[in-house]
Amino acid sequence: MPARILDGTKIASDIRSEVAAEVKAMAAAGVRPGLAVILVGHNPASEIYVRGKVKATQEVGIYSEQNMPPESSSTAEMLAMVEGLNRRDEIDGILVQLPLPPQMDSKRVLMAVDPAKDVDGFHPVNVGLLSTQRPGLVPCTPAGVIEILKRSNIALAGKEAVVVGRSDIVGKPVAMLLLNANATVTVCHSKTHDLPGVCRRADILVAAIGRPGMITRDYVKPGATVIDVGMNKVTDAAEFERLFAGNAKREESFKTKRSTLVGDVHPEVAEVAGALTPVPGGVGPLTIAMLMYNTVKAARMRRGSRQAEPTIR
Ligand code: NAP
Repeated sequence: MPARILDGTKIASDIRSEVAAEVKAMAAAGVRPGLAVILVGHNPASEIYVRGKVKATQEVGIYSEQNMPPESSSTAEMLAMVEGLNRRDEIDGILVQLPLPPQMDSKRVLMAVDPAKDVDGFHPVNVGLLSTQRPGLVPCTPAGVIEILKRSNIALAGKEAVVVGRSDIVGKPVAMLLLNANATVTVCHSKTHDLPGVCRRADILVAAIGRPGMITRDYVKPGATVIDVGMNKVTDAAEFERLFAGNAKREESFKTKRSTLVGDVHPEVAEVAGALTPVPGGVGPLTIAMLMYNTVKAARMRRGSRQAEPTIR
């Protein structure tokens, strides 16, 4: 039986509606959550991401602003901008769009963001809060992975979870969230021995690798839930054939666009897994939805609301 497809687009849309209702309730109490995005220079991919984020904030009623320092800005100028946003009370969330230009000390800039406004959840204070199970701001994509699992009624407690990838922004926080949800967690990386064998132990397999279609059916225990975080652009015709031969819809679109988006999980896994997130339309849409959620959460936490978690499920 083919895997149940976990519809990230629908889940993200539910979360956005819940956040919008929350923002409305806060407005009635005289509070409007605010998000400031810093976008340095003119990186086309970053500009698209930021546009998507700003549009989404406006749709849910969050105040948002874009700060666009020139490409040539120094670390000191960036630090001054971040400090200014830290001081402004109407700004609850600060998002520094990465990558920063090479002359900038990215780590210093990210460390300068007030942890209470760190809606990306990358500041070491928030990393520490997550690992000690205290309330804080959790990175958006990992938080989205957990929302997909919970809202799809996939049990985590006592289950074997395997995470492939150990980056600070995806693999490690996903592993910590799964552990906090009482799964038994194994984290794999490029030095892991017998990766397919370790992955086959998983009831829940999370792929956050950055390698198109690397997770084939040999890595998957029949019936397992597979979460594909990967977002890879495939332009090579042979690679496309390996992944999508016989898929008429993809072939049609590849012919016109000369590229296609694929996750870290090979499409054949749908024949083995019990449940699977598609790419596109799986984890991707959750990232922006959880950014909205984090901005509202930051607004509540900064005002010392006893109910810091937004009331979404
Ligand atoms: P990353 O920083 O490059 O980390 C990749 C991880 O995969 C590393 O830990 C690396 O191991 C491991 N890895 C690489 N090759 C491997 C192999 N052959 N076998 C086992 N492990 C291997 O990437 P990332 O930022 O975590 O992103 C991962 C993927 O998620 C990318 O496709 C990215 O585009 C996508 N992503 C999607 C979203 C979204 O919104 N959906 C958000 C963020 C990222 P080592 O540590 O040993 O090098």
